[in-house]
Amino acid sequence: MKSNCFCYKVERKGRGFIVKICILASSSSGNAAFLSTERTRLLIDAGIGRRELAKRLAAIGEDLAQIDAVLVTHEHSDHVAGLAALARFCFARRARHLAVFATERTAPYLEWGECVPAVETFQAGCGFTIGDFDISSFTIPHDAVDPVGYTVRAEGIKVAIATDLGYIPDSLRVHFRDTDVLMLESNHDLEMLRVGPYPWSVKQRVMSRRGHLSNEVTAEFIRNDLDSRVSTLILGHLSEHNNHPELVRRAGYDALDGRALFTQLFVAEPGTQSPVFSY
Ligand SMILES: [Zn+2]
Ligand SMILES: [Zn+2]
Repeated sequence: MKSNCFCYKVERKGRGFIVKICILASSSSGNAAFLSTERTRLLIDAGIGRRELAKRLAAIGEDLAQIDAVLVTHEHSDHVAGLAALARFCFARRARHLAVFATERTAPYLEWGECVPAVETFQAGCGFTIGDFDISSFTIPHDAVDPVGYTVRAEGIKVAIATDLGYIPDSLRVHFRDTDVLMLESNHDLEMLRVGPYPWSVKQRVMSRRGHLSNEVTAEFIRNDLDSRVSTLILGHLSEHNNHPELVRRAGYDALDGRALFTQLFVAEPGTQSPVFSY
């Protein structure tokens, strides 16, 4: 087990200066984000099936077998359901294990079957390097063992991803500073959740400080605290039962309206993948 910050080297030659980002899936039924430079290809979470992952990567001209590493945010199935099959696939295709990064406390909760990949562990809050990417992790308030969000930097571009959090602690405002691309959760509309189909205990869990961010709370953050550097704001992890992309879009635009920012807003809709954002 490693607890210090460390560097994971990716052996691949290339000369690229473009950072690409694609949200392959984002909702309460599956999450995966792709980030790449010319030389390094990462996934943050693998919460959809291996075939679907391959299909969505192929749609943007990428090959699942070329993924260098997966960063895990937490052990909930909508974030790791496709991870074991992906590890098996990568080992079969290239005779070398997939690198999976997870916190020391989350790693024991990942299930592998017969093909255990190269799991690199770190303490939440720690930073490390994978190929071209400098990565920092930060703790988020959610009802998992040791949930984290990530900031990822390459070629002068900083990307921050934080979904699955019950509220936005002050510490996150610091992590989100100087971010070019921010992906933030906008999970539910409070009224839809209140009158929706979930049992009361689940509604309480979603609304709790270790649950998920509502459209209202996310909009308030945008209105008051969004860093002026953010050029692309992606709102994601929408609940399929308690939200609608149009509500998220409206709340997001209304919140941005009060700010004199040049920020493009994108809502990651359940069941679809985003366009590729290139920098
Ligand atoms: Zn989730
Ligand atoms: Zn979760």
